[in-house]
Amino acid sequence: MNGILEKLKARQSCCWKNPDYGKNTDKLCYSLKDIYDAEARLCRFAPLLAELFEEAAVQYGIIESGLLEIPALKEKLLPGADMLLKADHDLPVAGSIKARGGIYNVLCFAEQICFERNLLTPAENYRKLALPEIKKIFGSYTVSVGSTGNLGLSIGTISAALGFKARVHMSSDAKEWKKVLLRSRGVEVIEYDGDYSSAVAEGRAEAESDPYSFFVDDENSHELFLGYSVAALRLKEQLKLRKIFPDREHPLFIYLPCGVGGAPGGVCFGLKMLFGDAVHCFFAEPVNAPCMTLGLLTGKHDGISVYDIGLDNRTLADGLAVGRPSAFVGKLMMPLLAGAYTVEDSALTELQNLARELEGLKIEPSAAAGFTGPRMVLDSGFCQDNGIRPENICHILWTTGGRYLPE
Ligand SMILES: *Cc1c(COP(=O)(O)O)cnc(C)c1O
Repeated sequence: MNGILEKLKARQSCCWKNPDYGKNTDKLCYSLKDIYDAEARLCRFAPLLAELFEEAAVQYGIIESGLLEIPALKEKLLPGADMLLKADHDLPVAGSIKARGGIYNVLCFAEQICFERNLLTPAENYRKLALPEIKKIFGSYTVSVGSTGNLGLSIGTISAALGFKARVHMSSDAKEWKKVLLRSRGVEVIEYDGDYSSAVAEGRAEAESDPYSFFVDDENSHELFLGYSVAALRLKEQLKLRKIFPDREHPLFIYLPCGVGGAPGGVCFGLKMLFGDAVHCFFAEPVNAPCMTLGLLTGKHDGISVYDIGLDNRTLADGLAVGRPSAFVGKLMMPLLAGAYTVEDSALTELQNLARELEGLKIEPSAAAGFTGPRMVLDSGFCQDNGIRPENICHILWTTGGRYLPE
């Protein structure tokens, strides 16, 4: 274990196998029922989303990505392997995996306001929320968030579309084009010199003083987490269409880029609830921002930051530039996460280009972090430890952002 800590400090790409994997799985604070609740809520909102966003209308208001074959890329990464790509980089409306949790979180808030004011019942058509009189009510509330970019894009876009005032506190990592896009969608963008955690802290403090303000707290939000988890239900259907039925001997290995932990954590949680021992999830982090790996391996979670071990949290992977993990996701992941690994920035750029050249995929650097996983995990001895035959694995690379990346 100390060997891994030394490698993290040295910014050396490495793979951590979770010693607590599979232990105490009976103590989880959520269950499959919570995931189905979230899915039901998204279905109730689908007619409204279809009305608000042309991009969502073509999928009847269900914001979902494809499960793609990547024949050429796969031969580069792990020749002969079974490998698919879950294309969240191309999710409509928000252009990243944040479309899942972020939009869901704001929909929860909108629904809560409507229920409290007796404006809506779950049985009604939610298209009603686009009526001017309801938009006007939403207009008295502000929704805000702190973000490295993509969460802001997701929360800002859905909030403004519903009629809320939307404020996004952006960290210094946030790319200029994301700010421009947000402003064009009617969102107020506030820029900070500090990192992600300070942008979140600023937003949180500002919102606290205003009763008509709702702050989406990326470090603490359980709604975000459950919104992300719905991906598991959708993936199961997509696998079924491909006649892939994973079991313990023929498992899925899933590679998820990780920042604060909410998105990959929610997906991992959903998949473990649905597939159990037939799925193994691995998180990918930049060598300069391995906050989740650090929190898990030290057991300190949000009590330790990458700055504490001499790292600077500077990375090309802006979506993963997080120094301190979520306050609750790491703890929840202890029995559910198989392992985690780190990736150098130089590899991210190379893999980003490879995805474009070989498969025509437009992904941002963060989204390529999953790609080194299959090789890293196979080399780690994880299969031997768990009696898994490598040729039986179906690897799934989860690409997490890029749809609106400018040329
Ligand atoms: C936010 C983000 C992630 C990771 O999500 P977290 O909830 O921060 O762990 C991964 N990839 C991209 C492109 C992101 O924007």
